[in-house]
Amino acid sequence: MTTIYGVVDIGGTKTLIGIATENKIIETRYLKTSDISSPETLIDILVEEFDLLISQSNYKDGVLKSVGVSVPGPLNREEGIIHFTSNLDWSNFPIVEKLKKKLSNIPVIIDDDANAAGIGEAVYGAGRGFRNQIYVTISTGIGGAIIINGQIYRGSRDLAGEIGHITVVPDGPPCSCGNFGCLEALASGTAITKKGQQLLIQEQSEILSKLIGQKTLTAEMIFEAVRQGDKACHSIIQQVCRYLGIGLANLVQIFNPEAIILGGGIMNQSSLLLPLIENEMKIRLFKVQQGHVNIKLASLNGQSGLWGALHLAKNHINAIEVEQTCRI
Ligand SMILES: [Zn+2]
Repeated sequence: MTTIYGVVDIGGTKTLIGIATENKIIETRYLKTSDISSPETLIDILVEEFDLLISQSNYKDGVLKSVGVSVPGPLNREEGIIHFTSNLDWSNFPIVEKLKKKLSNIPVIIDDDANAAGIGEAVYGAGRGFRNQIYVTISTGIGGAIIINGQIYRGSRDLAGEIGHITVVPDGPPCSCGNFGCLEALASGTAITKKGQQLLIQEQSEILSKLIGQKTLTAEMIFEAVRQGDKACHSIIQQVCRYLGIGLANLVQIFNPEAIILGGGIMNQSSLLLPLIENEMKIRLFKVQQGHVNIKLASLNGQSGLWGALHLAKNHINAIEVEQTCRI
């Protein structure tokens, strides 16, 4: 009999379901999150998929011991409730209770997606070995996780690490959170796309106009326009990196981490972004800090959240102890 852990990463657009042994994710399956009609349907899908994945794996004798779930949106970890998610009409859904009931009462542990991804990278990925590190994900939005002395820092009400919502420009654009000039409103994939749309409206980028054709504008198109020599798009990216550099330099001044791990789809463009971000950080940091913060790219190939879910499942506790795995 092999001990198997169920791992789940519910994303805004896709949901990843997997099974794992102690140190390896052995089978995974993608679902479009929009295809999941209700949270109850998700519970049924998960139960079915865990069985199916185990039967298709080399561990047919596997027994599910616990499940870790990375979820978007505000949640109550202790009560196991997802308060709401931005893309799905789920409100105050008791995911832990419902899933436990269908899985013979085995432990089910949830955490928010940024913390789960940060834990995944700290324990299994680019953050291994660093006791003090900050994970920042830059994709549609910007999120983060803070790890101090090998433990995730959650703050007094589980709200720490909202790196996307630190103010970078006092009178900047409005943010979905209600504030103005948040890092997310200035440097996320959504912000980059918005700036590209302005260029198109003002007819300031011929290359981007050609690239978009009849399609919907994406941040990737703006990066492609930069690669093709578009000056207006390049200045958008320079500005975005300036804001990211300011945000990350602020974090370094507060936390003095050994490493910052950068993840999320936008960081697929790291060869373009990283030199600009690091240059801005250098301008703003103490000389004694410069060169002493490892800026690293997330290394779990878009599965940081799933690996974090494995750590949650294995430890099946709410107070996550990353410490024992951050050996230095
Ligand atoms: Zn905000």
